[in-house]
Amino acid sequence: MRNRLPEWLRGHSPLRAATNPVREVLGDLHLNTVCLSAQCPNRGQCYGEGTATFLILGNVCTRRCRFCAVAKGEVRAVDPGEPARIVTAGRRLGLRHMVITSVTRDDLSDGGAGWFAAVVRLIRQELPGVTVEVLTPDFQGMPEAIGTVAAAAPDIFNHNLETVARLYPAVRPQADYRRSLELLRQVKRIDPQILTKSGLMVGLGESGAEVERAMDDLREAGCDFLTIGQYLQPTREHLPVAEYVRPEVFEAWAETAYGKGFRYVAAGPLVRSSFHAGAFRQLAR
Ligand code: SF4
Ligand code: SF4
Repeated sequence: MRNRLPEWLRGHSPLRAATNPVREVLGDLHLNTVCLSAQCPNRGQCYGEGTATFLILGNVCTRRCRFCAVAKGEVRAVDPGEPARIVTAGRRLGLRHMVITSVTRDDLSDGGAGWFAAVVRLIRQELPGVTVEVLTPDFQGMPEAIGTVAAAAPDIFNHNLETVARLYPAVRPQADYRRSLELLRQVKRIDPQILTKSGLMVGLGESGAEVERAMDDLREAGCDFLTIGQYLQPTREHLPVAEYVRPEVFEAWAETAYGKGFRYVAAGPLVRSSFHAGAFRQLAR
């Protein structure tokens, strides 16, 4: 039986977004969002605030992380009209901060890095004044791929660590903790102006000391921003929730993270990588 949600996680139905204009525009333009593909619990609020995270390179992933609701399996050809439609969506929705993410495309020789760069450049060209955040896969650690995206100069380069080192084999079997840290370090080496960001899910069985260790590792890699949110089991086939972390524990972690030197921290049960992305925007150049 699935765990009953604690009271601080109840009452956040994404169905409130059902008739929102954001949803209509995205449907019209045949764009994928991580909001829908990952069944994010914040859709009601984010769509209401005119924020969405665009999922490029299709909505089917080549990896099988055990916490993630994105579809896995046969990937589709890259859609050449996608960058232009994302710009159209940004214009129609009047977005000021656009978050671009993708499924992991291990089947592509550059992991889709060129596509990320193309989207960032087109937004820069067509929507001046809009800040751009990329949330990338690990590109299997390929330095050229990471360099390609960094060269497009997104304002924020986000790559999620997701969990603590010990839980990688169980949670992200095809990823590597050190490789993800190295990606963030490399972005800073290439362009220190780019703000780097990462995120952790908690409630998977990690200890407080392990969370703090991950914070130290991220700071050591030069990471500027941190998000920490509760893991929620998307279906019974996914990893079970080990613990519902209390809101006051998130508050304490935020304080700890600021003490370690992060420039902005969002921590709370419903925080997701792109939740309140506009707040991070304030610190982007
Ligand atoms: Fe989900 Fe990303 Fe893992 Fe793919 S790589 S299964 S999109 S978390
Ligand atoms: Fe979409 Fe991110 Fe908001 Fe979730 S937190 S609804 S993924 S913009």
